[in-house]
Amino acid sequence: MAFPLIDPERLMDRHAAMAAVGATGRGGVDRQALSAEDIAARALLIGWAQARGFACSADTVGNLFVRRAGRDPAAAAVLTGSHLDSQPTGGNYDGVFGVLAGLELMETLEDRGIATRRPVELVSWTNEEGARFQPATMGSAVFAGAMPLAEALRAVDRDGIALADALEAMWAALPDLVRHCPVAAIHAYVEAHIEQGPVLEQAEAVIGVVTGIQGLRALAVETFGAEGHAGTVPMAGRRDAFVAAVDLVAAIREACRDPEDVLRMTIGQFRVVPGSPNTIPAHVRFTVDLRHPDDGRLAATGDRILEACRRYRGPCRVEARELLFSHPVDFDAAIRERIARHAEARGYRHRALRSGATHDAKFMAGLCPTGMIFVPCRGGLSHSEAEEASAAHLAAGAQVLSDTVIELAGHD
Ligand SMILES: [Zn+2]
Repeated sequence: MAFPLIDPERLMDRHAAMAAVGATGRGGVDRQALSAEDIAARALLIGWAQARGFACSADTVGNLFVRRAGRDPAAAAVLTGSHLDSQPTGGNYDGVFGVLAGLELMETLEDRGIATRRPVELVSWTNEEGARFQPATMGSAVFAGAMPLAEALRAVDRDGIALADALEAMWAALPDLVRHCPVAAIHAYVEAHIEQGPVLEQAEAVIGVVTGIQGLRALAVETFGAEGHAGTVPMAGRRDAFVAAVDLVAAIREACRDPEDVLRMTIGQFRVVPGSPNTIPAHVRFTVDLRHPDDGRLAATGDRILEACRRYRGPCRVEARELLFSHPVDFDAAIRERIARHAEARGYRHRALRSGATHDAKFMAGLCPTGMIFVPCRGGLSHSEAEEASAAHLAAGAQVLSDTVIELAGHD
């Protein structure tokens, strides 16, 4: 039989409803991981899923699963999904699209009464963004065994709230949610996402067949000095944690010099304590986000930064540690072939590309055959309230996801 057509109107209605959860009033959302807004988004998704009779559960780190049973109860599931959490000034499509496209294909199967041999399972990963708790892609890292659960639970936000406590708030707000240990066997994982870059738009392509994801190494650096009065403590005797941090930032920039401009280095969070204009800072914490497609280059650059921190000989104490080392991955060739073939069959212009942004699919690639489908976003803009994607492109991406997942799940 032919693969069923998804309902683009329902998909866009769901996007509009989800965009209202945590809406900033400036066109985007603030739905940081396990915040009241993120929990409300989960509740909305659970409501839609339960209305179709799908089973909803979450694992120990709060990854949310929605399951549509298959004909063969022993068969490994085909997993699809993305994330509902956002950056503090996030857009309406990053992550959300992959979750809603997954739900859409499950509803399409339900509408048509199509039974698949394997179960189809939708996942919304906890804390993909890493804005409130670090590191990013935490839920999938724990799921894949790349990060110990205890370490994730200990992560604290800027208000000192631990992820463990934020999870308790989620369980309290969603009492119907079943706690379950995820199945060990997953047949395949396919994630749809907006590109978050300009390649597809510039190529006038509708579908991106993602070849893999570049590596990400995240570090945290802390400097410890001593507080004092801005007006009285002589400059010579100060132990200014901010000055030490700025010296380290200069050394880090030096360590990241790359004439080929392939390496990406971002210091996106910089916290000065106590943060008063007339008190010498006693403590600074900042993050370093490194990206490179080559594992060896990424490792060497991170090592150079850690070494530069160890070599610091100023008046402050310095601590530097790795938060996450997520290695570059190549996606499964057979899944890539399926995605390209379905795009072709639907008449969508497609092209292969590597993802510069990291995604939960990266950890899944270590567990099972994995692939990703990208759709264009306007101007390549993402992590912005101005993020925009066209209804036609979203529908195309959801359709190719649907065709690919249903084929993997097996239907008559
Ligand atoms: Zn995302």
